Amino acid sequence: MERVASKEEVRQAVLAAKREGKRVALVPTMGALHDGHLSLVRAACERADYVVVSIFVNPTQFGPGEDFEAYPRDLDRDMQLLRAEGADLLFTPSTASMYAADAQVEVAPGPLGTLWEGAIRPGHFAGVCTVVSKLFNIVLSDLAFFGEKDFQQLTIIKRMVCDLDFPVRVVPCPIVREPDGLALSSRNAYLSPDERRAATVLYRALRTAETLALGGEHDVALIAEAMRECVAEEPLATLDYAAVVDPATLVEPATLDRPARAIIAARLGATRLIDNMQLTTGA
Ligand code: AMP
Repeated sequence: MERVASKEEVRQAVLAAKREGKRVALVPTMGALHDGHLSLVRAACERADYVVVSIFVNPTQFGPGEDFEAYPRDLDRDMQLLRAEGADLLFTPSTASMYAADAQVEVAPGPLGTLWEGAIRPGHFAGVCTVVSKLFNIVLSDLAFFGEKDFQQLTIIKRMVCDLDFPVRVVPCPIVREPDGLALSSRNAYLSPDERRAATVLYRALRTAETLALGGEHDVALIAEAMRECVAEEPLATLDYAAVVDPATLVEPATLDRPARAIIAARLGATRLIDNMQLTTGA
């Protein structure tokens, strides 16, 4: 696996792969790779002939007071993991090369970017849409792999690709979890042992919603309330939101008459965690 830092080198490498008739995939990440990221790389290796992974801790998607400086970084380990998975190219741009000092234009996520995570993290999805657009334009891959772990991000990126005609196919990948249900996240490394134990409350709340839905409960407000009650029983967790939403509009439906997504965000001490689960209605 080759590692390049300049846009020109990525473009040349991808062009050469395309000239050989290869189908190119991009897996955008912020590094500190875990098995969730690697599942995307594996899926990309199965579906494409040339797999580009980007590692870039994007400053514009972090708000003031968020963990940009503290965000875990371990490039040597990441490179070992990516080599073992068979990735072809690692793109590690510098912040200066991604953002000119006089840059002005951003990609606006629209109304989807104001809900849920966007309400709590203003500007976050503009940062995400802008950096993902840039990566799409630099790499020009045929496919791009994103995890369902960041469900709102995935929904917004699908919308963006459709609305702005990016010539790339977005491939969603399922959430990878620890054996006790906690979704893998680079931020799990921040948790104290007690917080780590308490963090499974997000998964338990989602499972509560899933069980209610499968049992035929159609009342969305009641399902959301059951999730909130579940989190309230965990003294180390503070809920930001728990809701059942339409997977495309992210708006709460009145009743659960079609597949929906349960979404949740909570803080364990200083660490914010998000998770989600598909809900299918019972008979
Ligand atoms: P990040 O490095 O947090 O920006 O994540 C890079 C990509 O990995 C995003 O598409 C995430 O949704 C995805 N991802 C992160 N954690 C998981 C997980 N536990 N399961 C599946 N995909 C994940």
